[in-house]
Amino acid sequence: MEQKTGDTGMNVRLLAHTPDADAVCTAAGRSCYSERPSADLLRENDNEKVLGVIVGMGHHSVIEHAVFTFSVEGVSRVLTHQLVRHRIASFSQQSQRYVPLKAPTYVVPDSVKADPRSAALYENTMEKIWDAYNRLSEIVPAEDARYILPNGCTTNITITMNARELLHFFSLRCCERAQWEIRDLSEKMLALCKEVSPVIFRDAGPPCVRGPCPEGKLSCGRPRCSLRNHAV
Ligand SMILES: Cc1cc2nc3c(=O)[nH]c(=O)nc-3n(C[C@H](O)[C@H](O)[C@H](O)COP(=O)(O)OP(=O)(O)OC[C@H]3O[C@@H](n4cnc5c(N)ncnc54)[C@H](O)[C@@H]3O)c2cc1C
Repeated sequence: MEQKTGDTGMNVRLLAHTPDADAVCTAAGRSCYSERPSADLLRENDNEKVLGVIVGMGHHSVIEHAVFTFSVEGVSRVLTHQLVRHRIASFSQQSQRYVPLKAPTYVVPDSVKADPRSAALYENTMEKIWDAYNRLSEIVPAEDARYILPNGCTTNITITMNARELLHFFSLRCCERAQWEIRDLSEKMLALCKEVSPVIFRDAGPPCVRGPCPEGKLSCGRPRCSLRNHAV
């Protein structure tokens, strides 16, 4: 399972996930109201109905039993700086101390690509930065030379989140108000989650998938209710 974007080189793969996450969380939820243990309560035909009711009641801890791990490559440090603000998640990020970035490797925003003068300025600046970085790296340790590298340089990161945190993450980061690169990442993660766990992630996405936009005057005015029940 993988999704690619040509423009940024972003590549998102679902490395691992709780097997039968929908059924496991439903059984966990059922066990709260049963004399029997969750192992005896695994069923396949009514996960959607049961989990919908339990989570709808605000019993969100039930979906913490489902965990998803993603391998993300070719994203910028602009993105990962925002990503790691999500505290109920685990991250392992490529080190700039131990992995020298000898060749220029960076994300180019579409707005820059669309304007030839901006694109040329951007590329020239990156070349100069990497030239200085490589020269500095011969004199000082990589951990110090890296201070000169730009926010746009690419990195790889492994992310693990439980389903409760993922729903929160998708609510914030699939929204039109989120910055485009992290929105691109979160939409790819959501599509991967929906493939393996359609019940838990049925109504996942920005708040306008589920109801009115909470952004008030800042709303983009483009409700995405049509995303409900559909792959992103
Ligand atoms: C459109 C957008 C613009 C943003 N702009 C800025 C900005 O300009 N500057 C900036 O600094 N950040 C900005 N952020 C980041 C934002 O402030 C949050 O840090 C980030 O979205 C993580 O959200 P969170 O804290 O809800 O989630 P997580 O860290 O993923 O936590 C999930 C939930 O767990 C609970 N929780 C976690 N930790 C605690 C705690 N210590 N105490 C109590 N409850 C806790 C909360 O309910 C929280 O919502 C922006 C985010 C978005 C989506």
